Amino acid sequence: MTARILDGQKIRDEILAELKDEVRLLTAAGIRPGLAAVLVGENPASQLYVKSKIAACEQVDLASALLTPPATVTTLELLAVVEDLNRDNNVDGILVQLPLPPQVDTKRILEAVDPAKDVDGFHPVNLGRLASGRPGLVACTPAGCLEILRRSGILIEGANAVVLGRSDIVGKPMALLLMHANATVTICHSKTRDLPEIVRRADIVVAAMGKAGFLQSDWIKPGAAVIDVGTNTIKDAAEAERLLHNFPARLEKFRAKGSVLVGDVHPDAVNTAGALTPVPGGVGPMTITMLMSNTVKAARLRRASLRISPTQSTATAR
Ligand code: NAP
Repeated sequence: MTARILDGQKIRDEILAELKDEVRLLTAAGIRPGLAAVLVGENPASQLYVKSKIAACEQVDLASALLTPPATVTTLELLAVVEDLNRDNNVDGILVQLPLPPQVDTKRILEAVDPAKDVDGFHPVNLGRLASGRPGLVACTPAGCLEILRRSGILIEGANAVVLGRSDIVGKPMALLLMHANATVTICHSKTRDLPEIVRRADIVVAAMGKAGFLQSDWIKPGAAVIDVGTNTIKDAAEAERLLHNFPARLEKFRAKGSVLVGDVHPDAVNTAGALTPVPGGVGPMTITMLMSNTVKAARLRRASLRISPTQSTATAR
């Protein structure tokens, strides 16, 4: 059996088209949702991420603003930047690109973001709202994983779901989302015993450990849906060979480029799973998409008196 490939790029395009319609309606009602990105210093990877996020805003016609404090910024100066954005009524979403320089107290900055504008969903208030089933902003990557499952018609209600990883930004919110969608959820972490046996019982597996190709093909119940959140860059030839010996075209690409991106699930899982997100091209494209979705949702929730047409997108209606 070969797994159905769950194409994150296709789902991203669907959602972005829906969001564009919704932004058009909001704008016609006199409100243009806006995202402010705070990019500290000149870290090239951060610059690239923020550039992609601003480009996504343009794609759905969201307003965007970029603030670029220098790498020498202090915690107090950055707090003042965040406070200004909290007060600015045209800003619906605030994104502070991580990592911040070492002299800055990252936790303090993230907790200073108004939870109503916390479109990354990192604020403890939003995690608490999710835990207690109240409306709020959910971390983008797990929200994207849920969209993939839903839009691919994978039955969540009553399913046994296993989440590998318990971080505040992926594993924990993922488990809560699946639980609220009526799955029976098991959360695994580095101290979990008999991991293969637990995974073998799962109808849905979400792997978010940051360990390249860790989850083996024969741990997966035949036909299970597997969401691979891991993004691991492999540069070692022996490691690439271990993971990709059944995928000559990908090995060839590795040899040409010197690196390859793999998930936390061994690529051979394509022969056991019923449905599988590829890496790259599965969960990855969903994260920025859900940031856009959260910004529109934040605009709706914060400006609650607003009346929008009944054609609200399903991506943001939850
Ligand atoms: P993290 O904060 O490092 O958390 C990793 C989790 O995996 C921890 O809970 C850890 O357990 C658990 N773990 C580690 N080794 C394990 C093992 N042998 N068995 C079971 N569990 C184990 O990582 P994260 O931020 O959640 O990210 C996880 C992965 O997702 C990374 O590869 C990251 O790059 C990727 N990611 C991708 C996207 C995307 O857009 N595609 C977005 C975010 C993250 P303990 O708690 O016991 O240490």
